[in-house]
Amino acid sequence: MNKESISGLILAGGRGTRMGHVDKGLQPFGGTTMVAHVLARLEPQVATVAINANRNLDTYAGYGVPVWTDDTPDYAGPLAGLQAGLRRCATTYLLTAPCDSPFLPADLAERLHEGLRTAGADLAVAVTEENGRRQVHPVFCLLKASLEPVLSAYLDGGGRRMDGWYPQIKVAEVLFDDADAFRNINTLDELRELDTVKVPRLADVVSCLSAYDPDALPVRDAQRIIRDFVTPVRATEMVALRAALGRVLAADVVSPINVPAHDNSAMDGYALRGSDLPADVPARLRVIGTAYAGRAFDGKAQPGECVRIMTGAVMPAGCDSVVPQEFVTVEDDTMVIAPGTLRAGDNRRLAGEDLKAGSAALRAGKIVRPADLGLLASLGVAEVPVQRRLRVAFFSTGDELRSIGQPLDEGCVYDSNRYTIYGMLQRQGCDLIDMGVVRDDPQALEQALRDACENADAIITSGGVSVGAADYTKQIMARLGDVTFWKIGMRPGRPLAFGRIASNGRSAFLFGLPGNPVAVMVSFYFFAREALLRMMGAEAPLELVRARSAATIRKKPGRSEYQRGILARGADGQPAVTITGAQGSGILRSMSEANCMVVLHDEQGTVQAGDMVDVLLFEGLI
Ligand code: AMP
Ligand code: MG
Repeated sequence: MNKESISGLILAGGRGTRMGHVDKGLQPFGGTTMVAHVLARLEPQVATVAINANRNLDTYAGYGVPVWTDDTPDYAGPLAGLQAGLRRCATTYLLTAPCDSPFLPADLAERLHEGLRTAGADLAVAVTEENGRRQVHPVFCLLKASLEPVLSAYLDGGGRRMDGWYPQIKVAEVLFDDADAFRNINTLDELRELDTVKVPRLADVVSCLSAYDPDALPVRDAQRIIRDFVTPVRATEMVALRAALGRVLAADVVSPINVPAHDNSAMDGYALRGSDLPADVPARLRVIGTAYAGRAFDGKAQPGECVRIMTGAVMPAGCDSVVPQEFVTVEDDTMVIAPGTLRAGDNRRLAGEDLKAGSAALRAGKIVRPADLGLLASLGVAEVPVQRRLRVAFFSTGDELRSIGQPLDEGCVYDSNRYTIYGMLQRQGCDLIDMGVVRDDPQALEQALRDACENADAIITSGGVSVGAADYTKQIMARLGDVTFWKIGMRPGRPLAFGRIASNGRSAFLFGLPGNPVAVMVSFYFFAREALLRMMGAEAPLELVRARSAATIRKKPGRSEYQRGILARGADGQPAVTITGAQGSGILRSMSEANCMVVLHDEQGTVQAGDMVDVLLFEGLI
């Protein structure tokens, strides 16, 4: 896309009726005004921006951009603003955004342009889907400036609807997956609610703990604060069944059918009437036909009759039981069962026995696994609502870090954390924004944090948060939002920064992990992992299993320790865990050799050989 071919227009010319006739664009929001947020997000996407306004013209002009009033009189609505923009537009295209949507997408111009171009359309409009409902956002559109005469004719004819003139032009709809980005703020209450940080402050969350000491915080308390502070992302999308693998269900999936759909046989054998089974003498029943899976027997069994039946075949009318073929003898067309072989109702699967039509097959919040795909397919479900993927930005900090491909200068190390973090995030199914290595430089750090914040839901950094670190990471994190710095009672991984930062009206949760390569992984698994899952709308606490320790493990009570281990079948055939040699927090090799982590809790002391310990397995079935 050539952004020089696009002019931006902010629609701020309305009466603000639902806001009590205030000028919406100039309402305070996030430390500035709503229009300033829109301007900041639109400017990088286009060649120039102008504002369409009908009052407070000087104030709008104060933003340093042209201000255009409606040509059509009497507040004729956003279409009149669009007309004013088209008449003055000096580029091929005009992109519009309303002044009350401070979260508009950073790729609005690019996506709409792409949609317009591929469809060969005159106008491209943004569309979102939430809980299966499709919503068109006509005030977010990109259109050819040459459409001005068509629009003016529609307005002159009294037309006022933003999409009322669509039948006369070729329109392309472009689907965006983040419905939140198009949220507009309609009432002063809504504005106040959003602006007065409805999200809890860390201080409020922390005040729920009885004894809070950020410099000696138990792991459990840190986990609890994080859990209470993060909030799920609300946007959802519909995806085709296969694409749902690994995603989080956004709503219960209700079964449209009974499973199984009909009463059917659980065995290869003979379907019969339970009332035909005498208690003391053999039953002799005449075989009147065969029922196959997928091809039902279409007659009805009368008393004294039975039907040969295959597994999965629909139960023939009149029959309620199936005797497996190995329990009977057959002479010509007569089947004989010894008394006591069968009870009425045996080996019959009832319709709806697995799942009744109308009941929830899978619950919202579930991460879709292969078995779930199969289950949904068995219900004939072709599309499922899932949470939109979580966007996570991550970078490493440190002047000593070199990226792969660069020479390793003296005293430098290759940046490994970014790769470990990449791996862990990728497995969690996040959309990743890899921001590379950021120098220990205030401006570079601030820029990186702001960029991350404006584009992601969560930010993961490594390095620069430790106690003695003579760098700026902490100061800048604190300046950009509500961030706290902890020393956690754990080894490895004592320092941790956590909170929420904001930039240009967007906010993101921040996890400042320590720099040491093993500490990064431990902190990720025990703090960031569950929080990210919560943001993704899933509840999936870490599952620890119990195993016998093969040897003594030294440990001081009063802090949590995480030791790399190998869990394997011991001499007695039972699982036993052995610690993998050197446990220094910089030693990645022992992490790579390990298949689990032994979790030693605060109160635990030295573990004796043979004692049971908690273990976190690194791998599940994938
Ligand atoms: P810091 O927390 O920034 O003081 O870093 C602690 C230690 O971890 C230092 O020895 C760093 O060199 C090392 N370190 C920090 N970041 C990384 C990284 N991305 N990759 C490898 N080592 C790192
Ligand atoms: Mg550092």
